[in-house]
Amino acid sequence: MNLLEQKIVAEGKVLSDSVLKVDSFLNHQIDPKLMKYIGEEFARLFADAGITKILTIESSGIAPSVMAGLSLGVPVVFARKRKSLTLVDNLYSAKVHSFTKNETNEISVSNSYLSEDDVVFVIDDFLANGQAALGLIDIVKQADATLAGVGIVIEKGFQDGGKLIRDQGIRVESLAIIDSLSAGKVTFKEGTTI
Ligand code: 5GP
Repeated sequence: MNLLEQKIVAEGKVLSDSVLKVDSFLNHQIDPKLMKYIGEEFARLFADAGITKILTIESSGIAPSVMAGLSLGVPVVFARKRKSLTLVDNLYSAKVHSFTKNETNEISVSNSYLSEDDVVFVIDDFLANGQAALGLIDIVKQADATLAGVGIVIEKGFQDGGKLIRDQGIRVESLAIIDSLSAGKVTFKEGTTI
Protein backbone atom coordinates (compact mmCIF):
# COMPACT_ATOMS: atom_id res chain seq x y z
CA MET A 1 0.00 0.00 0.00
CA ASN A 2 1.44 3.39 -0.94
CA LEU A 3 1.90 6.33 1.46
CA LEU A 4 -1.29 8.11 0.43
CA GLU A 5 -3.34 4.92 0.69
CA GLN A 6 -1.87 4.24 4.15
CA LYS A 7 -2.88 7.73 5.24
CA ILE A 8 -6.40 7.26 3.85
CA VAL A 9 -6.77 3.97 5.73
CA ALA A 10 -5.35 5.42 8.96
CA GLU A 11 -7.20 8.74 9.00
CA GLY A 12 -9.98 8.72 6.38
CA LYS A 13 -13.58 8.53 7.59
CA VAL A 14 -16.15 6.84 5.39
CA LEU A 15 -19.22 9.07 5.70
CA SER A 16 -21.39 7.04 3.32
CA ASP A 17 -21.05 4.60 0.40
CA SER A 18 -19.94 7.53 -1.75
CA VAL A 19 -18.22 10.12 0.47
CA LEU A 20 -14.81 9.93 2.13
CA LYS A 21 -13.74 12.54 4.68
CA VAL A 22 -10.02 13.34 4.75
CA ASP A 23 -10.09 16.55 6.77
CA SER A 24 -7.07 15.56 8.86
CA PHE A 25 -4.56 15.78 5.99
CA LEU A 26 -6.14 17.30 2.85
CA ASN A 27 -9.43 19.17 3.20
CA HIS A 28 -9.04 21.07 6.48
CA GLN A 29 -5.76 20.34 8.25
CA ILE A 30 -2.97 19.79 5.72
CA ASP A 31 -0.05 17.36 6.01
CA PRO A 32 2.85 19.20 4.33
CA LYS A 33 5.08 16.10 4.10
CA LEU A 34 2.36 14.16 2.32
CA MET A 35 1.66 17.16 0.06
CA LYS A 36 5.35 17.31 -0.84
CA TYR A 37 5.31 13.63 -1.71
CA ILE A 38 2.14 14.07 -3.81
CA GLY A 39 3.64 17.08 -5.59
CA GLU A 40 6.81 15.18 -6.42
CA GLU A 41 4.82 12.25 -7.73
CA PHE A 42 2.71 14.48 -10.01
CA ALA A 43 5.92 16.13 -11.22
CA ARG A 44 7.51 12.73 -11.93
CA LEU A 45 4.47 11.48 -13.86
CA PHE A 46 4.28 14.62 -16.02
CA ALA A 47 8.01 15.41 -16.19
CA ASP A 48 8.15 15.17 -19.99
CA ALA A 49 4.85 16.92 -20.73
CA GLY A 50 6.32 20.41 -21.18
CA ILE A 51 4.02 21.89 -18.54
CA THR A 52 4.15 25.68 -18.12
CA LYS A 53 1.29 26.12 -15.66
CA ILE A 54 -0.84 24.26 -13.14
CA LEU A 55 -4.55 25.01 -12.92
CA THR A 56 -6.58 23.97 -9.89
CA ILE A 57 -9.67 25.05 -7.96
CA GLU A 58 -9.91 26.61 -4.50
CA SER A 59 -9.47 25.57 -1.85
CA SER A 60 -8.40 21.95 -1.48
CA GLY A 61 -6.64 21.72 -4.83
CA ILE A 62 -4.17 24.44 -3.85
CA ALA A 63 -1.88 22.54 -1.45
CA PRO A 64 -1.05 19.58 -3.73
CA SER A 65 -0.81 21.96 -6.71
CA VAL A 66 1.68 24.27 -5.03
CA MET A 67 3.91 21.31 -4.20
CA ALA A 68 3.67 20.03 -7.79
CA GLY A 69 4.38 23.56 -9.05
CA LEU A 70 7.46 23.73 -6.84
CA SER A 71 8.74 20.42 -8.20
CA LEU A 72 7.98 21.31 -11.83
CA GLY A 73 9.16 24.92 -11.46
CA VAL A 74 5.91 26.42 -12.79
CA PRO A 75 3.27 28.81 -11.39
CA VAL A 76 -0.06 27.64 -10.00
CA VAL A 77 -3.36 29.34 -10.86
CA PHE A 78 -6.48 28.52 -8.88
CA ALA A 79 -9.99 29.06 -10.16
CA ARG A 80 -12.10 31.08 -7.75
CA LYS A 81 -15.53 29.89 -6.73
CA ARG A 82 -16.85 33.25 -5.63
CA LYS A 83 -16.94 36.53 -7.42
CA SER A 84 -14.33 38.92 -6.15
CA LEU A 85 -14.17 42.71 -6.32
CA THR A 86 -10.71 42.39 -7.81
CA LEU A 87 -11.67 39.70 -10.32
CA VAL A 88 -14.35 41.18 -12.53
CA ASP A 89 -13.18 41.67 -16.10
CA ASN A 90 -11.58 39.47 -18.70
CA LEU A 91 -12.49 36.20 -17.10
CA TYR A 92 -12.68 32.66 -18.28
CA SER A 93 -15.54 31.01 -16.42
CA ALA A 94 -17.42 27.74 -16.21
CA LYS A 95 -20.32 26.37 -14.20
CA VAL A 96 -19.47 23.54 -11.81
CA HIS A 97 -21.94 21.49 -9.83
CA SER A 98 -20.42 20.46 -6.49
CA PHE A 99 -20.80 16.79 -5.60
CA THR A 100 -20.34 17.32 -1.85
CA LYS A 101 -22.24 20.61 -1.46
CA ASN A 102 -24.95 19.95 -4.06
CA GLU A 103 -24.76 23.52 -5.34
CA THR A 104 -23.62 25.05 -8.60
CA ASN A 105 -20.80 27.59 -8.59
CA GLU A 106 -19.46 29.68 -11.39
CA ILE A 107 -15.68 29.28 -11.30
CA SER A 108 -13.47 32.01 -12.76
CA VAL A 109 -9.89 32.57 -13.83
CA SER A 110 -8.43 35.85 -15.03
CA ASN A 111 -7.24 35.74 -18.61
CA SER A 112 -4.00 37.36 -17.43
CA TYR A 113 -2.77 34.03 -16.11
CA LEU A 114 -3.60 31.57 -18.89
CA SER A 115 -2.78 31.98 -22.54
CA GLU A 116 -2.58 30.00 -25.76
CA ASP A 117 1.14 29.52 -25.13
CA ASP A 118 0.52 27.55 -21.95
CA VAL A 119 0.69 23.80 -21.50
CA VAL A 120 -1.61 23.25 -18.56
CA PHE A 121 -1.69 20.53 -15.93
CA VAL A 122 -5.08 20.41 -14.18
CA ILE A 123 -4.97 19.17 -10.56
CA ASP A 124 -7.73 18.53 -8.03
CA ASP A 125 -8.08 16.80 -4.67
CA PHE A 126 -10.94 14.41 -5.54
CA LEU A 127 -12.47 13.04 -8.72
CA ALA A 128 -16.09 11.97 -8.33
CA ASN A 129 -18.45 12.77 -11.20
CA GLY A 130 -15.85 14.90 -12.93
CA GLN A 131 -17.65 18.23 -12.84
CA ALA A 132 -14.82 20.20 -11.23
CA ALA A 133 -12.18 18.76 -13.57
CA LEU A 134 -14.41 19.28 -16.63
CA GLY A 135 -14.96 22.92 -15.61
CA LEU A 136 -11.20 23.44 -15.38
CA ILE A 137 -10.67 21.67 -18.72
CA ASP A 138 -13.29 24.00 -20.24
CA ILE A 139 -11.31 26.99 -18.96
CA VAL A 140 -8.12 25.60 -20.55
CA LYS A 141 -10.06 25.37 -23.85
CA GLN A 142 -11.37 28.94 -23.53
CA ALA A 143 -7.76 30.11 -23.17
CA ASP A 144 -6.78 28.12 -26.31
CA ALA A 145 -4.06 26.58 -24.13
CA THR A 146 -2.84 22.98 -24.44
CA LEU A 147 -4.03 20.47 -21.84
CA ALA A 148 -1.22 18.15 -20.65
CA GLY A 149 -3.55 16.08 -18.50
CA VAL A 150 -5.30 15.82 -15.17
CA GLY A 151 -3.74 14.88 -11.80
CA ILE A 152 -6.03 13.72 -9.02
CA VAL A 153 -5.09 12.98 -5.44
CA ILE A 154 -8.02 10.64 -4.71
CA GLU A 155 -10.22 9.23 -7.47
CA LYS A 156 -13.40 7.41 -6.57
CA GLY A 157 -13.27 4.82 -9.33
CA PHE A 158 -16.88 3.75 -8.76
CA GLN A 159 -18.16 7.16 -9.91
CA ASP A 160 -18.29 8.37 -13.52
CA GLY A 161 -15.74 11.20 -13.67
CA GLY A 162 -12.64 9.17 -14.54
CA LYS A 163 -14.29 7.39 -17.45
CA LEU A 164 -15.93 10.58 -18.69
CA ILE A 165 -12.60 12.38 -18.92
CA ARG A 166 -10.44 9.44 -20.11
CA ASP A 167 -13.02 8.72 -22.84
CA GLN A 168 -12.19 12.16 -24.26
CA GLY A 169 -8.61 10.95 -24.76
CA ILE A 170 -7.35 13.04 -21.84
CA ARG A 171 -4.58 11.60 -19.64
CA VAL A 172 -5.77 11.24 -16.04
CA GLU A 173 -3.32 10.18 -13.32
CA SER A 174 -4.77 9.49 -9.87
CA LEU A 175 -2.48 8.79 -6.95
CA ALA A 176 -5.07 6.67 -5.13
CA ILE A 177 -8.06 5.06 -6.77
CA ILE A 178 -10.85 3.86 -4.51
CA ASP A 179 -12.90 0.95 -5.76
CA SER A 180 -15.48 0.97 -3.02
CA LEU A 181 -16.54 2.65 0.21
CA SER A 182 -19.16 0.02 1.01
CA ALA A 183 -19.80 -1.11 4.59
CA GLY A 184 -17.67 1.70 5.98
CA LYS A 185 -14.51 0.20 4.42
CA VAL A 186 -12.08 1.70 1.91
CA THR A 187 -11.04 -0.69 -0.88
CA PHE A 188 -8.44 0.43 -3.40
CA LYS A 189 -8.06 -0.51 -7.02
CA GLU A 190 -4.90 -2.59 -7.18
CA GLY A 191 -1.77 -1.22 -8.72
CA THR A 192 -2.02 2.45 -7.76
CA THR A 193 1.40 3.77 -6.90
CA ILE A 194 2.87 6.85 -5.32
P1 5GP B 1 -16.69 16.04 -9.01
O1 5GP B 1 -16.71 17.43 -9.55
O2 5GP B 1 -15.65 15.15 -9.67
O3 5GP B 1 -18.05 15.39 -8.98
O4 5GP B 1 -16.26 16.15 -7.49
C1 5GP B 1 -15.00 16.60 -7.17
C2 5GP B 1 -15.05 17.69 -6.13
O5 5GP B 1 -15.98 17.39 -5.10
C3 5GP B 1 -13.70 17.80 -5.50
O6 5GP B 1 -13.18 19.08 -5.80
C4 5GP B 1 -13.93 17.65 -4.02
O7 5GP B 1 -13.79 18.88 -3.38
C5 5GP B 1 -15.35 17.21 -3.86
N1 5GP B 1 -15.51 15.77 -3.53
C6 5GP B 1 -16.10 14.83 -4.29
N2 5GP B 1 -16.18 13.66 -3.65
C7 5GP B 1 -15.62 13.83 -2.44
C8 5GP B 1 -15.40 12.97 -1.32
O8 5GP B 1 -15.76 11.77 -1.28
N3 5GP B 1 -14.77 13.52 -0.26
C9 5GP B 1 -14.34 14.82 -0.24
N4 5GP B 1 -13.71 15.23 0.86
N5 5GP B 1 -14.54 15.66 -1.27
C10 5GP B 1 -15.17 15.18 -2.37
